[in-house]
Amino acid sequence: MYYRDQHCHSEFSFDSNEKFENYLKQVQGDIITTEHMDLGYIHSDGKEEDIDIDYEKYCKVIDEHNSNHSQKILKGIEIGYTSKNRDRIIDTLEKRNYDIQLLSIHQINGIDGMSVKSKDIDQRKFLTDYYGNMIDAVNNFKDYDVLTHIDYAIRLNKFDTKNFDIVDEYLSFVFKELINDEKALELNTRSVYQYENLEYYTFALKKYVKMKGKLVSIGSDAHFENYYRFNFEKAYKLLESLGVKYLALFENRKMKTIRVEDI
Ligand SMILES: [Zn+2]
Ligand SMILES: [Zn+2]
Repeated sequence: MYYRDQHCHSEFSFDSNEKFENYLKQVQGDIITTEHMDLGYIHSDGKEEDIDIDYEKYCKVIDEHNSNHSQKILKGIEIGYTSKNRDRIIDTLEKRNYDIQLLSIHQINGIDGMSVKSKDIDQRKFLTDYYGNMIDAVNNFKDYDVLTHIDYAIRLNKFDTKNFDIVDEYLSFVFKELINDEKALELNTRSVYQYENLEYYTFALKKYVKMKGKLVSIGSDAHFENYYRFNFEKAYKLLESLGVKYLALFENRKMKTIRVEDI
């Protein structure tokens, strides 16, 4: 059974130049892109910007493609959540129709989590703030389907394992809310196999399964074609070994589940 890569970016995102065609040619089935929307994003020079796509153009190009091809492109968005911009995010989304909406935490105290250097900061405070933002997001924003890359702020920085009590404690709150709301948790394959956070994801997914979490989504977070479906075969095996039985697939904001063993 075909499982779609549910997290990838095209030239409609500010940080990708990839064409739909280069993803389409790699698979027989439909594809989906999940383009960035980070309202009130603060750049490293302190400048604030509403990062967003040209939604009208995105729809026009995709609708045109879909009317001429049997291999379809579905529409998606990756929402960079900050509590300060919550109402504007909700207003923007109300006017749009997507097949899937991803929820992401990119910014911590006005800094991109991947720009932070762990040696320059108080690690315990940083982790508390990062996971605190994640809890705030899942508690106060419900218009999403998948919580993405739960290691974003620790993709580049390896934190002292003695601080992982924070991760453990805060992920309990995050997962409780996810499970209660029937949202899916993402296995981000670039996080696991490019940024080498296999150990962290193994820990987190075990915890999620133990808490009776059932819904997992797999996404590569590709920004160019070489990373599309990055290590998906390994990811299926990893999930099976951790007791994950179902993967969630989204279309028109409706979820269907497929068994990992049927893929
Ligand atoms: Zn992201
Ligand atoms: Zn992404």
